[in-house]
Formats: sequence, structure tokens, C-alpha cells
Amino acid sequence: MSHPIGNPDSDRQVLISEVGPRDGLQSISRIMPTAAKKAWIDAAAAAGVTEIEVGSFVPASVLPQLADTAEIVAHARAIPGLTVAVLVPNFKGAEAAVAAGAHKITVPLSVSESHSLRNVRRTHAQMLQEVQRIAALIRGLPSEQRPHLEGGLSTAFGCTIEGVVPERRVMELAVALMEAGCDEVGLSDTTGYAHPAQVRRLVRAVWSVVGRDQLTGIHLHNTRGLGLANALAALDIGLTTLDASLGGLGGCPFAPGASGNIVTEDLVFMLEAMGMRTGIDLEGLFRCREVLAQALPDEPLYGMTPLAGLPKGFVPATASRATV
Ligand code: ZN
Repeated sequence: MSHPIGNPDSDRQVLISEVGPRDGLQSISRIMPTAAKKAWIDAAAAAGVTEIEVGSFVPASVLPQLADTAEIVAHARAIPGLTVAVLVPNFKGAEAAVAAGAHKITVPLSVSESHSLRNVRRTHAQMLQEVQRIAALIRGLPSEQRPHLEGGLSTAFGCTIEGVVPERRVMELAVALMEAGCDEVGLSDTTGYAHPAQVRRLVRAVWSVVGRDQLTGIHLHNTRGLGLANALAALDIGLTTLDASLGGLGGCPFAPGASGNIVTEDLVFMLEAMGMRTGIDLEGLFRCREVLAQALPDEPLYGMTPLAGLPKGFVPATASRATV
């Protein structure tokens, strides 16, 4: 992946990874019908979204919302040009992800060990062992079938149980994940604690130990309203991939009224207005939001741009480039 450091904003391309079908849906109690999930993914791809985290391979008893992930992966794989990403908490999940044919697998490793024990009932050492087994499984596949393996450093910016998470710990675990066989690591602000200065500092710190090419993306939540500010800080320093969810679907049970991930619609508007190309068409995204609103009529959707509409005379960077 290239790093357009020093280039003007107008010459940049940003990859937006839509995580609503995984992070959003796992955070709400309603179970979206499989057909509606497929319609959502189809509409997102039609709008120009090129990477979607479509689900998670966890036992249905734990997350019944995502029990149909294998079927969703099969559906999404048939969409040309779409990178189909999934989350897996363990080796068994990775086996299922490989069998389903996911292009990208993210294994979350919580930097806070207390959170890891509560979330996946595993210590750091046990999780790293799990990552090693997953990496070996992938290495055993024919090269064209190997999914990309990302170690997701969750609670990297702070933890609701432990509070402050030492940056040294994030750096150590980033190195450990790479040594365990990951292709890259990602930073996750699981708890919505991050602020822009911290984003810049932590990205630099992790780069200093694993290299720039091994950290290109960030997963942000908008829990305290700093999502877009953090996204901009991440882009300014040189990250190229941002996770976001349509309508900011999801939320946090500990912060009523707080949205989940950063809102895809507002993020795309900001970037396109600044001259950064996302490849995503905003009108298409608004249609995609309608699909979501119809499927989950009682679920609050966030985001300001869909409500306000696009400014008069607005020309998105993607469209202006396409006509040149
Ligand atoms: Zn998340």
C-alpha cells in the first residue's frame, strides 16, 4: 500500500472499509434478516464501497445477529472487485472464514488483558498462540487462496475496565502480532477514548517498531464526538484506510445516545469535499441508508450529511477526477 505523505489532499485516495454489517449489527439486539444484509451489501457496493467487513465467525450462541456470516460471505464474494472482510476471535473461526472464502481476516487482540479475558476469555499469550495457528493455517493454503491476516489492536486508546492503556504495551503487542505471522496490524479505538493528538502519537509509536507498511488503517468510534477529528488526524499523519459504518449503526450500552463507528456518509462527504477520492458516490450511499432504514425501522441512524443534503454546487473529488 502506498503512503501519499507530503502530497496535497487533492491527490489522495482513501480506502473506506464499511464495518456496519459486523460492528454495527453485533452492537444492536435486533437480528437483521439475511436478505436485508445482502441488500445492504449490494447497495454499498453499488455506491462504490470496495471493502466491507460482512460479519464475524463466532458461535451463534454468542452473537445470533451474525449467525449467517458464511452465507453472507458467499454472497459478497460474488460481487466483482469487493474485498470481503470478516472478524474471527479464534482458530475455529479462522477455519470457517477460510472455508467460506473471506479475502481478509481480522483477529482482535485487546491490549487491555482484562478486556481480552472478558471479551474472548483468553490471555495475551493464549491469543498470540491462536494467531500463530491461524497464520500457519493460511500459509498452508495455495497462494491465491490465502486471505490477508490483520491483527487488530483493540482498546489501544484506553479501556473501560483498566482505564489508561500504556503506549509501550500497544507497541509490544504490535510487534508480537507481526512475529506471530500477521500481514499487518490495525489500531482500534474500541471505547471511543481517542483524541487527535493521541492518534498521531500512537500511530508514530507503532510505526517506529513495526514499520509504516505494517500499519495502514484505524478503527474509530464516535462515542465522544471526536470520530471525524480523529479520522483527519490519522489521514494527516499518513494512514490510508479508515473503518466506518453506515448511519453510525451500533452504539455503546455504557454511553446512551452515543453512535457506534464513525458515520460513513459524513466521512465520505468530508473527504470528497477536501478533494480526497474515496471512489464512493454519496447519492448511492444515501440510497444504501434507505435500505438500512427500511430493514431496521426502529434503530436510530446517525449522521448529519444525509439529513442536510449535499451543498448546492457540490462536486465530489471522485466525480471531478472521473471526468478528467
Ligand atoms: Zn468497533
